[in-house]
Amino acid sequence: MAKNSKGEDYCSFCGEQIPYNKVLIHGLNGAICEKCVQAVNDVLLDIRQEEAEKERKEVKIKLLKPKEIKAKLDEYVIGQDEAKKVISVAVYNHYKRILYDQQDDVDIEKSNIILVGETGTGKTLIARTIAKLLDVPFCIADATVFTEAGYVGEDVESILTRLLQAADYNVERAERGIVFIDEIDKVARKGADNPSITRDVSGEGVQQSLLKLLEGSLVNVPPQGGRKHPEQKFTVVNTKNILFIGSGAFNSIDKIIAERMNTNVIGYNKKKHDIDKKNMMQYISAHDLKTFGLIPELCGRFPVITYMNALDAEALKRILIEPKNALVKQYERLFQLDGIDLSFDDESLDYIVSKAVELKLGARGLRSIIEKIMTNAMYEFPSSKQKKISITADYAKQQFESSIFSFLD
Ligand code: ADP
Repeated sequence: MAKNSKGEDYCSFCGEQIPYNKVLIHGLNGAICEKCVQAVNDVLLDIRQEEAEKERKEVKIKLLKPKEIKAKLDEYVIGQDEAKKVISVAVYNHYKRILYDQQDDVDIEKSNIILVGETGTGKTLIARTIAKLLDVPFCIADATVFTEAGYVGEDVESILTRLLQAADYNVERAERGIVFIDEIDKVARKGADNPSITRDVSGEGVQQSLLKLLEGSLVNVPPQGGRKHPEQKFTVVNTKNILFIGSGAFNSIDKIIAERMNTNVIGYNKKKHDIDKKNMMQYISAHDLKTFGLIPELCGRFPVITYMNALDAEALKRILIEPKNALVKQYERLFQLDGIDLSFDDESLDYIVSKAVELKLGARGLRSIIEKIMTNAMYEFPSSKQKKISITADYAKQQFESSIFSFLD
């Protein structure tokens, strides 16, 4: 009991003598007065608030409005306006759903996205740019490895290992990240409906296991990945708030769309002659993905579908010069660091584009073409006194052609 030498009750915290008619709470080895209880309570409240604030900061997402997201994408991705708009809305809704979740009982569903378009049209670039501007972890998984490895279930979880790594093993951050699943069309099941798929792989099994990730469940993730570390403890990751973006070329899907459009009356007031036959991709729907070979459950988990246009010469030229980190700007910068003023004349850019078109390399090829053209200059100029170089079409042609034949000299 807390009594002083005079036999009076006192508080073991502040040491004050407490009259018999005031509150004094006794413990095993001491007592606490009302004032001290209040003070302790205030301290605890402060600590809790600090913790909550810290937590809020940790999971903070820079939520931009759809128009702001699109404007940012415009800085990096040329063309693809429809896809950029659809994705901006889907991403905005997705993160709004996370930030304002649990406030009432309306359960907003996820907006996972499928991007359909030829390789090298900017699908990965869009996803990567969004992750960067929202400052959320991002990883790319290739759907084909799940079939080629021969196993199904377990390996699909390794997608989340990469996301965990991208989030520096901060599970909370990973749980708000973006997973880009490339070549999702390659796990389509083989069927009479889909003549373009020739590989006999267990696509449907992979689709089923992907479904588990997409459904928003608790998944046991090997933090080191794979089977190399059998002793590792699993980390549990909740996929409920992870945004999945599936991407694929879906070769010949335009024929599937055309067929459907021919047999169905589309929309409510569209007549067949209103159909823009030159761009059938704009009419793509979940139905077409199903016909292609995605199982209906998987299509159901990707409510947002959009398409990327093939890049023509004009778009390729813009890609060379316009984006914030355009290739031409990158090379100019590289030379500028050596105090050299580099410029490309307009015809040289046309030449680079024509080669990319000719070699059917799309935007992906632009870099390797420029690299071949610039190798000699990058080798010679840093040791030369010349401080200005202008790339002409003739120079580009000569360098490119000689690089093919003397590449290993
Ligand atoms: P995909 O995922 O569609 O196969 P990527 O996004 O990986 O294609 O594109 C490959 C490269 O080509 C990108 O890193 C980028 O430099 C360039 N690129 C492709 N499409 C565009 C575009 N629309 N705007 C700007 N750059 C592009």
